[in-house]
Amino acid sequence: MNYDVIVIGGGMIGLTMALGLKQQGRSVMVIEQHEQPALPNELELRVSALNHRSRALLDELGVWPLVSDFRIGPYTDMHVWDKDSPADIHFSATEANADDLGAITENRVLEHFLWQRAEAAGVVITKTAQWRLRDCGSAQQAAEIEYGEQQRAQAQLIIGADGGRSRLRQQAGLTVRFWDYEQVGVVANLRMEKPHNGVARQVFLPTGPLALLPTPDTDVVSIVWSMDSSLAQTRLANKARLAPFVTAESGRCLGEAELISDVKGFPLRMQYAQQWHAQRVVLVGDAAHTIHPLAGQGANLGFADCVCLLENLQQRELADLSSLTRSLGRYQRERKADTQTMIAAMELFKRGFGTSNPWIKAVRSLGFLAAERITPIKQKLAEVALGR
Ligand SMILES: Cc1cc2nc3c(=O)[nH]c(=O)nc-3n(C[C@H](O)[C@H](O)[C@H](O)COP(=O)(O)OP(=O)(O)OC[C@H]3O[C@@H](n4cnc5c(N)ncnc54)[C@H](O)[C@@H]3O)c2cc1C
Repeated sequence: MNYDVIVIGGGMIGLTMALGLKQQGRSVMVIEQHEQPALPNELELRVSALNHRSRALLDELGVWPLVSDFRIGPYTDMHVWDKDSPADIHFSATEANADDLGAITENRVLEHFLWQRAEAAGVVITKTAQWRLRDCGSAQQAAEIEYGEQQRAQAQLIIGADGGRSRLRQQAGLTVRFWDYEQVGVVANLRMEKPHNGVARQVFLPTGPLALLPTPDTDVVSIVWSMDSSLAQTRLANKARLAPFVTAESGRCLGEAELISDVKGFPLRMQYAQQWHAQRVVLVGDAAHTIHPLAGQGANLGFADCVCLLENLQQRELADLSSLTRSLGRYQRERKADTQTMIAAMELFKRGFGTSNPWIKAVRSLGFLAAERITPIKQKLAEVALGR
């Protein structure tokens, strides 16, 4: 079989790339190990806060209207504070002349509709985890994948969108730099005593940040509590006791919490590929980078990769390896710089808040005070949240 592009991994980023390339007139196959995710009745545990830039891309692909008709949780305000000091900042969509700052979307819902649209557009989706990269390709030859029962497929470009543990990345010999945050992202859904009023909240605790994200249900929040691994072990061993800790650590901002879902933990690690492409192979999304979820930017970075790679491949002759390499090089330069800025910002936040050093605590309080009082700084923060 011959395709213009093969995408390994049909998560939200892989399917977005596949659909975008199909709309550019390319023939595309996706290899994904799971079935199409079914639409969930209950609110899912894994959610993503999507910014305006990501939504604009999904809108262009015809997916956002389906997702927003089904279920989203738009948020108009953000409230961030520090448990250990008076530091407190609140900003709203009106400060950035927008209707909202973003929307909470369930990963499974997004993937369901992306899959539906991709198949309807003619993307071939092959369900298997049995595959290997036979050849990264060369100037004369396409790249090649062997999959299933000794089937082979060739493509001018193979895109690795198979997540943080990308097998394609390993097989293409693309190495990563990484460090363990020594934290686990604990996620759960909780019914609160008071309505969330469309405000995304985050409190910085000495053990890590706790986010309370507003869902479509006015009384239900989805939490992402990034806590030190030892504490996470204790919390995950006694899930039923999580709600009283959320009530107390959030300063009762929404009153009493009640657990209404399972509780799951995801080990957190910073990772980025040193080189994002080799011959006819390129990485996108978590396969290229994973970051701390404290600013809810992981998937947004992945969607920004898609925008950039789609722009760079538009009307390019993929068979010409030197032209393809120039396009992939431009993509890598632009996206790697953006990702590294985000990684540095996450590191600053994590170290700045995970300390008991009184000097650092004083500096961070001043930082919050400046951000709250100085209008241009506040406007800039609102624009960063929007993805502008
Ligand atoms: C606790 C937590 C909270 C988060 N919150 C946010 C947030 O609010 N906002 C935000 O922007 N980001 C958030 N993120 C990050 C976000 O979830 C990820 O960046 C995003 O899911 C990455 O999507 P992806 O498609 O690149 O990878 P994945 O979602 O990992 O998808 C990879 C796909 O590849 C498939 N695959 C893997 N291996 C193989 C194989 N060998 N063969 C075939 N298929 C394979 C998988 O089945 C999967 O479908 C959060 C992350 C965590 C851990």
